[in-house]
Amino acid sequence: MDLYEHQARDLFAGHGVPVSAAEVAHTPGEAREAADRLGGRVVVKAQVKTGGRGKAGGVKLAADAAEAELTARRILGMDIKGHAVAKVMVAETVDIDREFYVSYVLDRAAGTFLAIASAEGGMEIEEVAAHRPEAVARIPVDPEEGVTEAKAMEIAVAAGLPAAAAPVLRALWQVFVREDALLVEVNPLVQAADGHLVALDGKVTLDDNARFRQERWGESGVDPAAEPLEAAAAERGLNYVKLDGEVGVIGNGAGLVMSTLDVVAGCGARPADFLDIGGGASAQVMADGLSVVLSDPSVKSVFVNVFGGITACDAVAEGIVRALESVALTKPLVVRLDGNNAARGREILDARAHPLVQQATTMDGAARRAAELAHAD
Ligand code: GDP
Ligand code: MN
Repeated sequence: MDLYEHQARDLFAGHGVPVSAAEVAHTPGEAREAADRLGGRVVVKAQVKTGGRGKAGGVKLAADAAEAELTARRILGMDIKGHAVAKVMVAETVDIDREFYVSYVLDRAAGTFLAIASAEGGMEIEEVAAHRPEAVARIPVDPEEGVTEAKAMEIAVAAGLPAAAAPVLRALWQVFVREDALLVEVNPLVQAADGHLVALDGKVTLDDNARFRQERWGESGVDPAAEPLEAAAAERGLNYVKLDGEVGVIGNGAGLVMSTLDVVAGCGARPADFLDIGGGASAQVMADGLSVVLSDPSVKSVFVNVFGGITACDAVAEGIVRALESVALTKPLVVRLDGNNAARGREILDARAHPLVQQATTMDGAARRAAELAHAD
């Protein structure tokens, strides 16, 4: 999961990486007030999860609070590489002397971590890396040892950074390890006119697999599972993604569910979610899945698409029948069972004869039916 710059900045501050004072603003008025508090002269920065904001006009200096307001008005609502700007960060400006590049990444191929650093940071770092790779140092970091004083100095020397960068490199390593990041990037790490170092930009990707031990992610608003339906699904251990449409989709196996989204779209409807109930498809999982999907107010019909493999369709049908005992079905449900023991599964659902449950024998037919039902009123 990628973080916004202001979230990365907060993590940096928490681990002793020097950053400049900053506030987040959602309106031009808020930007003006923030600039007032920060002393007037500020930089206004679009908060979007993509790079190249500077080149796109999303990073602008403002001489005073009134100019900060005007600048924020221009940046808010901008489109940067397909990302709409809904908030800006207003930060104290820094008089830049030099711009460096520093990052830590997981090097999957080498099975280790890598420090990447350059004395030629800033907005042209891609050019530098492409045309003069020797200007970018790449130093492996042993996961057990981490960035010791000696390692920090080795990185600084290899990249041509001042010795004062070593403590910053160590603090950034703490961000990388303690926050379970896959990427921590600072571009630029700036040497200010008065000599001190500041991380002027921050890009952090957290490892989703660490969610179980990072309770603070939820508290700090870093976690995108702030979408309430996704949070409810995550609590039940479901593999659920909220989408924008009206046809709820439940299936077994990620590949089948993805195809189901396409088929629903092909019928002129829009899927309301991706929900993979996995191989077991027990009654409990089916009940949990149905309750999450039905609680989405934009869902008008639900399409349950199951291809029985190791899990036979009769077991899935039993699961649906038992789920209907605990979940009040309020919207039409179209079920397509195919594969292992499909005929037996269909009999079980027929015998239950729930007025809101219909069956279809093909995936296309079921998708069409679910789309019609979603658009019935
Ligand atoms: P990016 O383009 O998305 O990487 O956004 P950055 O946060 O890196 O900002 C782009 C550029 O704006 C930086 O490389 C700096 O040159 C410049 N910049 C950002 N903040 C300041 C500041 O406080 N003072 C000055 N003078 N320039 C800044
Ligand atoms: Mn940058």
